[in-house]
Amino acid sequence: MASLFETELTALKGVGPRRAAQLAKLGAPTVGALLRCYPRSYEDWSSPQPIAQAAPGSPCLVKATVLRRPAAQRVRGGLTLYKTAAGDGSAVMDLVFFNNPYLPNQLQEGREYLFRGKMGGTLLRRQMSAPEFLPAGENLPVRPVYRLTEGLSNRMVTAAVARALEMLPQQVRDPLPPDLRERCGLCGLREALVQIHRPDSREALERAKRRLVFEELLVLQLGLFLLRSRERAPAGTALPRDCTEEFFRLLPFAPTRAQRRAVREAVSDLRGGKPMNRLVQGDVGSGKTVVAAALCYMAAKNGAQAALMAPTEILAEQHYRSLSALLAPAGIPVALLTGSQGAASRRQTLEGLASGEIRLVVGTHALLGEGVRFARLGLVVTDEQHRFGVAQRAALASKGERPHLLVMSATPIPRTLALMIYGDLDLSVLDELPPGRQPVSTYVIGSGKRRRALGFLQKQIDAGRQCYVVCPMVEEGAPELASVGSYAARLQQELPRARVGVLHGKMKPREKEAAMAAFAAGERDILVSTTVVEVGVDVPNATVMLVENAERYGLSQLHQLRGRVGRGAARSYCILVSDAQNEEAVARLQIMRRTNDGFRIADEDLRLRGPGDFFGSRQHGLPSLKIADLSGDMALLHLAQEEARALLREDPALDSHRLLRAEVRAQFSAAGSA
Ligand code: ADP
Ligand code: MG
Repeated sequence: MASLFETELTALKGVGPRRAAQLAKLGAPTVGALLRCYPRSYEDWSSPQPIAQAAPGSPCLVKATVLRRPAAQRVRGGLTLYKTAAGDGSAVMDLVFFNNPYLPNQLQEGREYLFRGKMGGTLLRRQMSAPEFLPAGENLPVRPVYRLTEGLSNRMVTAAVARALEMLPQQVRDPLPPDLRERCGLCGLREALVQIHRPDSREALERAKRRLVFEELLVLQLGLFLLRSRERAPAGTALPRDCTEEFFRLLPFAPTRAQRRAVREAVSDLRGGKPMNRLVQGDVGSGKTVVAAALCYMAAKNGAQAALMAPTEILAEQHYRSLSALLAPAGIPVALLTGSQGAASRRQTLEGLASGEIRLVVGTHALLGEGVRFARLGLVVTDEQHRFGVAQRAALASKGERPHLLVMSATPIPRTLALMIYGDLDLSVLDELPPGRQPVSTYVIGSGKRRRALGFLQKQIDAGRQCYVVCPMVEEGAPELASVGSYAARLQQELPRARVGVLHGKMKPREKEAAMAAFAAGERDILVSTTVVEVGVDVPNATVMLVENAERYGLSQLHQLRGRVGRGAARSYCILVSDAQNEEAVARLQIMRRTNDGFRIADEDLRLRGPGDFFGSRQHGLPSLKIADLSGDMALLHLAQEEARALLREDPALDSHRLLRAEVRAQFSAAGSA
């Protein structure tokens, strides 16, 4: 099996370079990978019904003998029809196919086939148009349906997989040890691969699935445990002095009850002997930054250093501005560290961190850099945790002597997923917004009403407010710069009095900073932006978020965008512009209109997109799940967890389970976290 991962697809009969390239797009660049591209679903070809009982207008499966050779009939517009008929003793039906010159060879007179499709015609004269068909003798009661890309048909993928299965050696080396397989009642890898692609029966398919799901979950668990054992070890830096009240007095407002509670929970961790591992979850605008600031303050006042890592430069700079304004007057030197900093100020920051003079550093991934050293790193905070991989968090923590960890996330994830991803993290929830917030009023409008919406923006601007406009999403790879610019220019013509600013990911860091600062200072009325404003940006005077092509975004993303407004006392608005007709898109946008509750939105998102998406490598640095479905496979998940623990107890580095270890490494490095 291992060597099949080095065998190019062109080694398969019937697969040329073009087909190989198409299959590679599916995520199958090699024969081994193709075998791991499991079917998306299955069609049941197992129980045909008599033609006479097939109700016209409904999908059905029938088994019938072709009564005559299909005859071609040319009609207008270059269309060729192929007509024939088939019968099964109960009735006869007409069959019509379009433009398939191979049909007369594929459907032979006197032979029996299974036909699958919609029964049309009338009760007296039944007809199927372009049904799918298979020779009746072909023993495939359950047929795989694969994900496809441009130019690939299900038939082509099925054929390539069949060839790949032929290359599978009789003795496939199985990463799951035999005793474990026996204990858990799992079939071998060879059987699983054959049956998942060409099941002999429903039961055989279930057996194969169970085995592959288990393997996937086991690999995931092993990877997580291994990462965690790196980052979890006893005894952190004790920070004995509780400075909470002192800190709260620095704030221009009273902390909410939820903020107080979260800080109290974290403080009791900090004062104890063990390193804190805490997740603060709170909806957008709930004031997570205050919690982080309180702990950074406490670390600094206890003679330690704190590092706060944010996923974007814009956010890092924003945190830097507000935290240094708050903490510097209280005698805490704060510094910024980003990738785009000038060499001189960077050197200064690095020196200050190494000497211990700088007590709080706010930064981006740049904090993970080789040259970044701390004198006494006592606390690591990551903001918007879902943007970081597990390993990045661990990498930052490794710069100290087992520092305390606080991770903050606005993405409410279901509890079971949280348990898997964050393992034994303790949880504090900010379930309360600062006082005086009003829910953001959300409207979904067609582009026909856009003009009126712009009039509304102007009114808000006249009242001294500011607006975000998220411009139409550009195609992947298209020059972002030009399109944001030309969109902003058009908007400027539509709203000539407004002072329009622009912000996008491809701008130079200095330009970004300037654009954000100008907007925050009220020197711009409108900020035309891409989704770079999605995360964390905080300008309380902004009251309108207008999103063009809103249907293109996921619910959680729209919720994050909407979270940029409604952060002050004034009433705020979110206008989602969309001409989408398709039911799912409309339903999604309506959910946004109905609720402001991030947890409900996350649940809906989960329901619509499935839990697999939570495991995209972009989000967590975890491998994406190919076959396991976490909402349905809980029992297997627990079993996999148990077995993973047991394996690591016996063999902590998996030295005697090399295949399994290779699998874990491959999965986690593909996801960018090993
Ligand atoms: P998020 O949880 O989305 O990160 P922030 O920490 O950015 O939220 O806070 C959102 C806004 O609410 C900020 O402008 C912050 O100053 C303000 N804020 C936070 N806590 C309070 C509070 N207790 N009372 C009033 N305003 C608050
Ligand atoms: Mg935030």
